[in-house]
Amino acid sequence: MGEPIQSILIVGGGTAGWMAAAALKRAAGPHVQVQLVESDDIGIVGVGEATVPPIRDFNAMIELDEAEFMRETRASLKLGIQFNGWGGADSAYFHPFGTFGAGPTLGDFHHIWFNLHRQGQLKGQLGGDLHDHAICTQAARRGRVGQRDPDPRRAPLNSLFTAYHFDAGLYARYLRRVCESRGVQRLEGQVVEVQQRPSDGFVSGVRLDDGRVLEADLFIDCTGFRGLLIEGALKAGYEDWSHWLPMNRAMAVPCARTGPLTPYTTATARAAGWQWRIGLQHRTGNGYVYCSDHITDDEARETLLANLDGEALAEPRPLRFVTGRRKTYWDKNVVSLGLSSGFIEPLESTSIHLVQSGIYKLLQHFPDRDFSPANTAAYNRRLGREVELIRDFVILHYHATTRDDTPFWRRAAAMAIPDSLAERVEAFRDRGLLFQVGADEYFSMGSWLAVMVGQGIVPRSGNPLYALGDAARSAAGMTAFAQRVAQMADALPEHEAFLKSRNMWAPD
Ligand code: FAD
Repeated sequence: MGEPIQSILIVGGGTAGWMAAAALKRAAGPHVQVQLVESDDIGIVGVGEATVPPIRDFNAMIELDEAEFMRETRASLKLGIQFNGWGGADSAYFHPFGTFGAGPTLGDFHHIWFNLHRQGQLKGQLGGDLHDHAICTQAARRGRVGQRDPDPRRAPLNSLFTAYHFDAGLYARYLRRVCESRGVQRLEGQVVEVQQRPSDGFVSGVRLDDGRVLEADLFIDCTGFRGLLIEGALKAGYEDWSHWLPMNRAMAVPCARTGPLTPYTTATARAAGWQWRIGLQHRTGNGYVYCSDHITDDEARETLLANLDGEALAEPRPLRFVTGRRKTYWDKNVVSLGLSSGFIEPLESTSIHLVQSGIYKLLQHFPDRDFSPANTAAYNRRLGREVELIRDFVILHYHATTRDDTPFWRRAAAMAIPDSLAERVEAFRDRGLLFQVGADEYFSMGSWLAVMVGQGIVPRSGNPLYALGDAARSAAGMTAFAQRVAQMADALPEHEAFLKSRNMWAPD
C-alpha cells in the first residue's frame, strides 16, 4: 500500500462541495485534513430542490438529525413526480417512488397485471388502474405522507419511499455549519491558478486571488459548470449529449405558496420544454427548462410567470447548461463532483443523487498517494455507466411522447435514441419485459414501468407463463390489494400536519 492521503482540498462550496466535505470528514475522521475553499463573489447555482429517496441514506451517513435538517432547509416530503401534458394537452401520469403491488421490488406484478388486462379480468383502460397498486401515488393524490414501514408484512407501507424537496441554498449553508463544527476548515477566496507538478501533471496546489497557495494530496473539484480543475487544468473533455437531450436553458423563480403543501414534484410539458413546481414550507419553487432553438428567453420568462400559483417573489433567474458528462470524472489526483462532472437536466431530480453516488464510489475507491490508475479507471467506468443509464431514462420521457403540437415536441419524438434505450423500449413493447442492468443502475423496474406505461407504451404480448394460473383468483387478489392500498393511504396523516407533528416544520 502507498502512503496514505493526509490532506484533501475541496474547491467549491455548493451542494456538491459541502456534501463531499461532510462525507469525507465523516469517513476519514481526524486522520485526514479536510479543507474547503469557496468564493462568496461567485456564489452557488442555488437551484436543485428535488431529490430522490437515497438522499435519506446520505443524510443518515453524515449523521444529520432529520427533523433539524427539514426545519433548516424548509423541506417538504416527496413521493414522486406528477407529469402533466407529456402525451397530449390533457394527459397526466405519476412516477411514484417505491413500486407497484406487494413487496419492496417489482417482481411478477406487472406481468400478471398485463395478462389479466389482456384476458379482460380487470376493468378500465390499461394503465389507468396501475396506480391503484402504488402506495406513493395513492398517498400523493390525497396530499398525505408517512413513515415507511420496512416490514414486508406491512405491505404496501414497505413501499412508501420518500425523498425531500428543499431549499438548495439553505442545504449548503446548513451542511457548512455542520461541517465546520466537525473540523472541516472553510476558506474564502477565489482560485485564480491551478498549479501542476511538471513531472506528471498532478495538481499540487491552487493559488487564491490574495496570493495564498493551498496544497493537498487529493483535490475535489466542486466548482460547478466551470470545472476549474478537471477541465480548466486537466482538460478532461466533455461529452455533449445535446443531440439526445436538447434542453439547454432554464428560467427559475420562487413564488408565494398557495394551497396545501403538495408531497410531489410537478413537471408540466410546455411548448418548448417543461416547467417544474416544487412546494417548500416557505415558498414554491418554479422553473421552465427549455431548448433555446425553439423559444426565446423572453418567451420562456413570460410562460413561467403566467403559470405560477402565487405572486412571484423575485425576478426570474436565467440559467444555461449543456447536457453531457465529463469524459473523465477522476483524473490524476482530481475528482470532479456535481456540475463540474456533468449535467443531466433536472426532469428526474438526479443531479444531487449523482453527487451522492460519486461520493459513495469515491469512498469505495479511496486512493493512497500512489493513485493506482486501475482504481481510478474503475471509478470512472462505474460512475459513467450509472450516468448513462440515468440519461436513457430521462430521454425516454421525450422519445415516447405522442405530442406533435409544436416543432419542439415533433423534434423530440423523432430524435434518435441511444442503442441501450432502444433495446429496453423494444423489450418492453414486445413482451412487457423490464430489467435492471446492474447494481449501479439507479432507476428501478417500477420506475421504468411507470414511465413506459405513463407515456403510452403498451406491450404487444406478455410472458405466457403468467397467464397459466387461475385468472379470476389473481384478479380478486389484485383488487383486494388495491383496496388495501387505498385504505392505508386514507389512514396516513396530511402532509403539513405530519411535518408539524414530527417537529420538522420551521417556525415562521
Ligand atoms: P455550484 O452550486 O455552482 O457551486 C460551485 C461552487 O464553486 C461555488 O461555491 C462557487 O463559489 C465555487 N467556485 C467556482 N469557481 C470558483 C473559484 N474560481 N474559486 C473559488 N470557488 C469557486 N439537482 C437536483 O438534484 N434536483 C433538482 O431539482 C435540480 N434542479 C436543477 C435545476 C436547474 C435549472 C439546474 C441548472 C440544476 C439543477 N440541479 C438539480 C442540479 C443542482 O443544482 C446541482 O447538482 C447542485 O446544486 C450541485 O451544484 P454544485 O455544487 O456542483 O455547483
